[in-house]
Amino acid sequence: MLASAPASATTSLFGQPSDSPLLVACNCPWTLCNYRCHYCYLDHNGRRAEAEQIAFGKWERVIDRVCEIPRPLYLAAGTEGEPLTSPRFWKTLQRLTAHSHVKGVWFPTNMSRDIERMSEGVDIAKLGLTASLHPTEFENHDRELNQFLNRCRWVIDRGGDVVINFILTPAHIPLFPVYRYIARQRGIPMTANVFHGPYEGRSYPEAFTEAEHAAMREYFADRPFVHEFMSGRSSRGIQCTAGRDSIYVDATTGAVMNCPFTREPMGSIFDPQFQIRSKTSACSTDWCRCHWTNGLISSVAARYRRTRGIFHFEERPADEQGSNPFA
Ligand code: SF4
Ligand code: SF4
Repeated sequence: MLASAPASATTSLFGQPSDSPLLVACNCPWTLCNYRCHYCYLDHNGRRAEAEQIAFGKWERVIDRVCEIPRPLYLAAGTEGEPLTSPRFWKTLQRLTAHSHVKGVWFPTNMSRDIERMSEGVDIAKLGLTASLHPTEFENHDRELNQFLNRCRWVIDRGGDVVINFILTPAHIPLFPVYRYIARQRGIPMTANVFHGPYEGRSYPEAFTEAEHAAMREYFADRPFVHEFMSGRSSRGIQCTAGRDSIYVDATTGAVMNCPFTREPMGSIFDPQFQIRSKTSACSTDWCRCHWTNGLISSVAARYRRTRGIFHFEERPADEQGSNPFA
């Protein structure tokens, strides 16, 4: 009997059209934010607007190249600011969502401004949003919370996908079930991120108490791995679809990596011969501490399908074993 040839470990991304969905993360270099959350790790005061406009042009060139990939695409366009303060960002979204093979565009927003007006000309049904709830920034809590929820509903009612996200600082942990209850009353799903960083002189997640962990375990009862990885469980050696079903692209140079944490170099998005992995690979870092990258882990993709709001995990039927996180 003839031995079959081993399957190739890579395939041509641009030369080999495929129905297999690909998630491409390429962050927009926008840093202006109208909030000043005390737990934010970003520096919104050191902004250089002119340099940012140049960087924005480079990002547009890279993201337009990404759109030449002949596959169903899910784009993750995170920013380090608030997208609702950038008309140029929404102009780019008009172009991205007009491509028929672009199935979704994800980004986080604090929903603090008029999304109805900003999104004119954008295909709302392709948006997948993480609506970040920052009640400490509200001047009039009830009015602004209501506005926030109305804007989430406005997107959902037009076919968009929205999940509210809440940062679990020690002070926020007891508030999560209250806001989740209010969000559920409006039919809006809500999740959370475990806080990382310094807070009132202590370093987190290491400083969370057992009682705080117990509360968070309950919040993530439908996806326990999220709490585990965000609280420090190592991902090293775990089989992962990153580099096969998802890539991370540098917004300035177009350099491609398998994911934003391991950053294994894979080539350039501008190389017509670019090769993408055709197999899963073992994670080479201890640090898979983000909600959306957790969903790329093979065992997670086997059990959950991602929606275009990439913090969403839909549990697959018991008899279904998933492979691609988006299929
Ligand atoms: S809304 Fe987000 S980006 Fe802006 S200050 Fe708060 S955490 Fe930072
Ligand atoms: S497990 Fe997480 S950190 Fe590791 S390769 Fe996959 S996505 Fe990246």
